[in-house]
Amino acid sequence: MPETVVANDLRAQWTEIGGDAARALERVGRSGWFVLGEEVLALEAALQNELGVRFAVGVGNGLDALEIGLRCAGLAPGDRVLTTPLTAFATTLAIVRAGGVPVFVDVDPCGVIDLDAAEGRLRGGGIRFLLPVHLYGHAVDLARLEGLARAHDVIVVEDCAQSILATSHGVRTGSVGAAAATSFYPTKNLGALGDGGALFTNDEAIAARARSLRDYGQTSKYVHGELGVNSRLDELQAAILRTAMLPRLAAWTARRREIARVYRASIDNPGLVVPGVPAGSDSVAHLFPVLAARRDDFLAHLAERRIQGSVHYPHLASNQAALRGVPFEISSSLTHAEAFAASEVSLPIHPFLSDADIARVIDACNSF
Ligand SMILES: *Cc1c(COP(=O)(O)O)cnc(C)c1O
Repeated sequence: MPETVVANDLRAQWTEIGGDAARALERVGRSGWFVLGEEVLALEAALQNELGVRFAVGVGNGLDALEIGLRCAGLAPGDRVLTTPLTAFATTLAIVRAGGVPVFVDVDPCGVIDLDAAEGRLRGGGIRFLLPVHLYGHAVDLARLEGLARAHDVIVVEDCAQSILATSHGVRTGSVGAAAATSFYPTKNLGALGDGGALFTNDEAIAARARSLRDYGQTSKYVHGELGVNSRLDELQAAILRTAMLPRLAAWTARRREIARVYRASIDNPGLVVPGVPAGSDSVAHLFPVLAARRDDFLAHLAERRIQGSVHYPHLASNQAALRGVPFEISSSLTHAEAFAASEVSLPIHPFLSDADIARVIDACNSF
């Protein structure tokens, strides 16, 4: 029996990074300082450098990075935030927690927010924020996004949890919004050995406020300017991210892109649709979605061949019970989003797949 081709291989990752992670633990343990210290500052500097952004602010997770980003970008209670329903629920939850009202529009055939539908809704007025998600590692068209934001006077906050290093027409995701958020959840392209996240901005005032909000809203020791949260990043996660993960991110991303290229060239089955990527997007292939009308059969077919398929996402945010009684709006038909929710399957795509694993996945797709 061959071994299972898993969706994420964090054990194989440990084999590669374990030595560096152990050295990071030793360094942090010896320092005697465990939360928001020199290691967090060093990670923030490394991220600024790597991503070409002026300020990176480490926080506890991606959800908090989004919530803090929205608040720092000036979201006031009741402000409408135009967004996609096809995403991790955290995107929607961050809007609601910040006091905003999610306004959902459909996705395009690639699975990211449909900018035509967004433009239609923006013309209707009353929207203050636009929160695109660079889903699956694909970059939403940033030039078009910027144009929409300018034409309709809305503030963009980008969800880059799946898109670190992705570019749109050569421009990095996260560089167009007033703020951008990412997650270091272990399965992300840049994952920690636990929870973590970061907010990116080129605006010094936004960065300063984010540093305060992540730490109870302190402006200086025991002085609280506003109601913040506890979303501090550990020294240990920061040290591991900077010295064990970040130096490998470029090579891991190259391997993901290579696998995506091979899948795209080799999967040929009329029963499966391989969605395209947005115009100008150099995707970082966080996930590799295919659409299968007979999804349960396809998942069973993969499982029989010991291949772990997964689904992103089976339920639209707008359908979640958590939103009962919470103000939100649906501003267009969600036809494409519903189709993804009903038929999407993510094939294994991570840097530790062997060429034989990749061949097995392709064979399983083409024999379905
Ligand atoms: C993972 C993820 C988040 C949330 O990040 P956490 O660190 O889990 O809070 C938000 N948005 C998207 C698109 C994600 O994939």
